[in-house]
Amino acid sequence: MRISPLVKSFQPYKVLEGDYRIWLDKNENPFDLPPEIKEEIFEELRKTPFNRYPHITSMPLREAIAEFYGVSPENVAVGNGGDELLSYLMRIFDGEYVVTTPPTFGMYYFYAKLDGIPIVEVPLDENFIMNGDKIAEKAEKASLVFITSPNNPTGNTQPREEIIKVLDTGVPVVLDEAYAEFSGESYVDLIDEYDNLIILRTFSKAFSLAGARVGYFLASEEIVDALYRIKSPFSLNALTMVTAKVMLRHYDVVMEKVNYIIKERERIYREFKDYAYPSEANFILMKLNAYEFLLEKGIVVRKLGGRLEGYIRVTVGRREENDELIAALKEFVEGIK
Ligand SMILES: *Cc1c(COP(=O)(O)O)cnc(C)c1O
Repeated sequence: MRISPLVKSFQPYKVLEGDYRIWLDKNENPFDLPPEIKEEIFEELRKTPFNRYPHITSMPLREAIAEFYGVSPENVAVGNGGDELLSYLMRIFDGEYVVTTPPTFGMYYFYAKLDGIPIVEVPLDENFIMNGDKIAEKAEKASLVFITSPNNPTGNTQPREEIIKVLDTGVPVVLDEAYAEFSGESYVDLIDEYDNLIILRTFSKAFSLAGARVGYFLASEEIVDALYRIKSPFSLNALTMVTAKVMLRHYDVVMEKVNYIIKERERIYREFKDYAYPSEANFILMKLNAYEFLLEKGIVVRKLGGRLEGYIRVTVGRREENDELIAALKEFVEGIK
């Protein structure tokens, strides 16, 4: 037996063992669904046949999302998490390489490497803003450009005019809006104008459904059609589809939690202005090498590397969790003064 060298070049997933109290490392929503909504989901699940495969192109959920946005279901694709959709988008378009804008989301690199697709990097500037002209220069031979707004792990949105410069080249663009609900800004309106634009969204963050695994994108019919030619037929399971459909009926509850998280985000930011970057997501980037220090106190955050070596990314939690985070970080900051 020989495991391929490509596979061996990937690291196994590390499971953090230990007794930690506060998890602020994965940008999850700190609120589980309210019991009434869970009951509503259970009622729907009771009616769902478990012996049957789910709809092959997930039409029931695509229709619900289409209605939510006022678009056609032919403009909506759904997948087992946004991540699954990224893995397929990587393969749909012809070209020599994909373009990324580091520092950004690691999964673009993960899937490109797995598929043997070269990556051309056009780094964000010192304020983590993209350069549309520089990306446009690379567009001709690119199969796909990834832009993330708000960006993970930096938290900022990207300017509309820079995104448009890239779209105007005609290159396919994945605009990853996994955190758009936490920002004032979305570029969904641009899908009417650009058939090369793919807006990626997820139920994992604002919608509190990270455990259910469901994401979607909005794009032209041609791109959605291409996706459904190659997508693993039943990867979005029937239970998840029902769950996501119920959550779409409760956008008011979602936004109530989103507004709570935004208030908390601003409270944390104000406390650490000298070290924190302004964020339009549900996390904050901080120039504080406090990963180990926080871990000792039972608080798990995300440790960053590369250009962000010595930085942490902190997910906004519940008020009482944030109180503990703030107290611990204040102690850390006192120690480095
Ligand atoms: C969380 C996240 C996603 C999608 O996550 P799923 O849980 O797979 O839906 C996509 N892009 C970014 C930038 C994210 O942070």
